[in-house]
Order: sequence, then C-alpha cells, then structure tokens
Amino acid sequence: MGISTGEQYIRRINQLKTNILLDGSGITGDISDHPAFKGVMASQAKLYDLQHQPELKEIMTYVSDTSGNRIGTSFLEPKTKEGLEKRRLMIQEWAKSHAGMMGRSPDYMNTILMVLNAAAELFTAEDEKCAENIRHYYDYVRENDLSLTHVFVSPQKDRSSKGGGDTAARMIKKTADGIVVNGSRILATQAGITDEILVYPVPSNIDDEAFSYAFAIPCDTPGLTFICRESFTYKESHYDHPLGSRYDEMDAIVLFDNVLVPWDRVFLHGSSIVKNLLYSQSRIFEHTAHQVVSKNVIKTEFILGTIQLIIDGINIGEYQHIREKFSEVAIALEVMKGLLHQSEKNAKVNQWGTLTPEPNPLLAAVNYYPRIYPRFMEIIQLISASGLVAIPSEKDFGGDQKEVLNHHLQSANQEGYERVKLFRLAWDLSMSAFGSRQKLYERFFFGDPVRLADQLYGRYDRGDSIEMVKDFLAGK
Ligand SMILES: Cc1cc2nc3c(=O)[nH]c(=O)nc-3n(C[C@H](O)[C@H](O)[C@H](O)COP(=O)(O)OP(=O)(O)OC[C@H]3O[C@@H](n4cnc5c(N)ncnc54)[C@H](O)[C@@H]3O)c2cc1C
Repeated sequence: MGISTGEQYIRRINQLKTNILLDGSGITGDISDHPAFKGVMASQAKLYDLQHQPELKEIMTYVSDTSGNRIGTSFLEPKTKEGLEKRRLMIQEWAKSHAGMMGRSPDYMNTILMVLNAAAELFTAEDEKCAENIRHYYDYVRENDLSLTHVFVSPQKDRSSKGGGDTAARMIKKTADGIVVNGSRILATQAGITDEILVYPVPSNIDDEAFSYAFAIPCDTPGLTFICRESFTYKESHYDHPLGSRYDEMDAIVLFDNVLVPWDRVFLHGSSIVKNLLYSQSRIFEHTAHQVVSKNVIKTEFILGTIQLIIDGINIGEYQHIREKFSEVAIALEVMKGLLHQSEKNAKVNQWGTLTPEPNPLLAAVNYYPRIYPRFMEIIQLISASGLVAIPSEKDFGGDQKEVLNHHLQSANQEGYERVKLFRLAWDLSMSAFGSRQKLYERFFFGDPVRLADQLYGRYDRGDSIEMVKDFLAGK
C-alpha cells in the first residue's frame, strides 16, 4: 500500500471504534466529527497528504526495500549522512505544517519503530520469535503507514524510593494465545486518534518479570480503555483558538483490563535483561532526540516570528529590554540549530549499522529546551501585556461592533481584526489551557527534567576535557 492519504487515515481511525472515555461518556459516531478530536485529526490528515505532494516526494518518502512502494521517510533507517539529513528535512517539513505544536506527530513513533527494528537482534535474548515479531511489525506499520501512540510510565501513586507500582499494568499470565496484561499506564498522547498503541518498559532496578514486557496492539483491542483529560479545544474557530482548535493532541490514562496480546505482537515477555538494555543498546535516545530537536527548531522559529510580529504590531522595537528579550529567543534558536547540526556532523554508525547522531549535543538540547521554553512564554507575556486579554472573539467582530472594534483595537500597522488575530495566537501559545499544556509537555514529555540531567551526567562524553586537564597537570 505505501503512504496513506489524510482521508485514508481518517477513515481507518473512524472504523476502529476505540474505547475512549471523555468527560464521563464514551465516544459514539465518527471520532473525526467529535469537537475534541476533529481539529487535530484534520491536522494529522494534512501531514499524510503532504507526503503525496510531488515537489516533496523526495524528502517525504523513500522506496521500500520489501514492497517497492513509496513509504514515509520517518521509517527510514539512516545509513549515510544523506539519510540522516533526509530524515531531518522530512521531520521539519511536517513540523512546519503544525508549527511544532504536535509533539507526537507520527514521525515520533515511527522513529521509535525504526530504532527497534534496527536493534531487533537485542530481543533474541528473550527469544528469536520476539525479534522476528518486531521486524514484521515494523514492516506492517511502515507499509500501511499506520499511526501509533505509546505508554510506558507507571501511574503516580507513591514515587518515594520505597514506593511501589501496584496499579501499573503488569503481565499477569502467559497463555497459549499470548500474554495477558492488567492495570494502567500513563500517558498516551494522541489517544484515540491512532491506529495502534505501543507499550514498552522503562529500565528500572526492579527485576520483576511482570513488568518486563513490550508489545503493540490495535487501539480497539478488547479490554483497552483510554481515559482522556478535558479537551482544550474550546471552540472550533481558528480565529478564536488558532492552536487549540487545530493541534490539541489528547492525553489519556490507559486501562488494560485483562488485555490479551497475541504472541505475534509480543516483543518482550519477561526478560529484565532486555528491558534494562533496551535504552542503552538500541540507541533509542539519539534518534528520538534527533526527531524532537529537529521539530523544536521549527517550533522556536514560529515563536520567534510571533514575537517579532507583536513587537512590530504595537511598535515597541525601540526599547532596549524588548530587543534583549527578542535576542534571548534568537540565541536559543541558534543554539538548538547548532546542537542539531553538530549531532549530525559527528554521527557514527552504531553496532546495528544505523548512522546515529552524536549523543553529547542531543543530551544538551533535550536538557536545555525544557528550561528555555517556559522563558519564551514569559517573554510573550512580558512584551504583550494587556494585549493578551484585549481579545474579543470572531463573533464580536462579526456583529454591530465590528467597525468600533477595528478602530479601537488597531495596532501600529493593522486594523483591529488582524491585530486581535495575532494576539489570540500569542494568548493560545502562552496562556490558554492549550498553551499551558504545551509548556508542561516540553517540560516532561521526554522524561523528568531532574532525571534527564542525571542521564546527561551519566552519559556525557567528557574524555577530552579530562585529558586536557591531566596533560596540563603533568606539565605537557
Ligand atoms: C503533556 C504530557 C504528555 C505526555 N505524553 C506521554 C506519552 O505520549 N507517552 C508516555 O508514555 N508518557 C507521556 N508522558 C509522561 C512523561 O513521560 C512523564 O511525565 C515523565 O516521564 C515524568 O514522569 P511523571 O509524570 O510520572 O512524574 P514523576 O516521576 O511522578 O515526578 C513528579 C515529581 O517527583 C520528582 N521525582 C519523582 N521520582 C524521582 C526520583 N526518582 N528522583 C528525583 N526526583 C523524582 C520529579 O522530579 C517531579 O518533580 C507525558 C507527559 C506529559 C506531561
């Protein structure tokens, strides 16, 4: 089949009838018509359609070595610098389409699958069949251009060092048909709008085989329920909620009620050795971080552009502190771009034959961005001031007050309607429920920032620095 169209994606998800609980009720009818999912599904459909644009074909797709079909570049295992660059260009093309606001656009999960497939041999330590299952699954997903969500975190119950995860989904038995999983996991972003869900373990010092499992199943598998947060798509109007109405990727707790995972979808079923080696050996960090940083360069460009339009809009560019605040964001953008390019420039082929970006710059980038992103939002608030709340709605502009509003809300270079449109964007970025969730997302989606810094401490290659000081002390 090869690359999907947006329409094919929407049709597939509507047919699935995933069990989704939102605000006390299940979803009936087509999910693509539901106000909470309509906007983000249309945005996701647009991403799939981009793959079909003739002028983007070379960036967005490549020819499958198994079927000969054109398939999505986010599945491409890079073997050369050109391959890695092609991946970045593809990721950024999609990110431009959603202004970097869809953290879990399908390229994120496709990257994870690409890495698992490349490192499938790792899973032979569990059994040969698991490695085979991963290879088949990767092929199945890429050839059908399916979309995935994922969950791997235990629900927050008791996070103390002695705390337990007794509510966390565990493998309760193995049967002739597969493994049975019971309990819950957090937090599935893009809940309800993907074909499949991937579940894999986090490395831990608990060598309990009940938590050493990995699998992927269709989202409408019996026993699976997605319990959604409140929707942040308050209105369908793109004028009123320019971001929330388009890009609100739902987050959900996932309940597994004795879910049977058939053997051909099981990638791990008890080996804590594989569980604990999965991250360090597969190079999942480097490739997902490369996707994340590529996307966040675009997101930062979007934020920078918004800030400049606000500065021009109310003509505050002459003030030194405004110029300094703009510079802060511009510096962050250049730092992110530099780290991304450095990671590609120093990429090396790993033990599985995959060209893997250098970890040091990516460790820096994923630690840096969660710190700087909240500052971007603060800067938007500090330069916009009351402009963030003097924002009548589209309906206000459609009524009798249109001329009055156009006059009184004009900016230095635009009439009221256009000025409010810009400030509504600034509000949706920095203040709305959608904007606040974005901030939380950037802080946590890649893991707890405290433990991310710890990971950097553990992994950062500082050999040259140490040698330099040793040479100095030795008088060389
Ligand atoms: C918007 C959003 C979307 C997400 N999307 C997904 C997704 O699609 N799929 C998915 O699987 N996950 C997703 N996540 C979950 C994400 O991976 C976790 O939020 C992250 O790993 C942190 O875990 P936690 O939320 O359980 O926080 P906790 O681990 O409970 O941390 C809470 C606080 O306790 C501190 N703390 C806890 N334990 C320790 C410790 N051992 N040492 C030091 N400090 C500690 C933390 O620093 C933090 O301040 C998402 C999260 C958010 C916020």
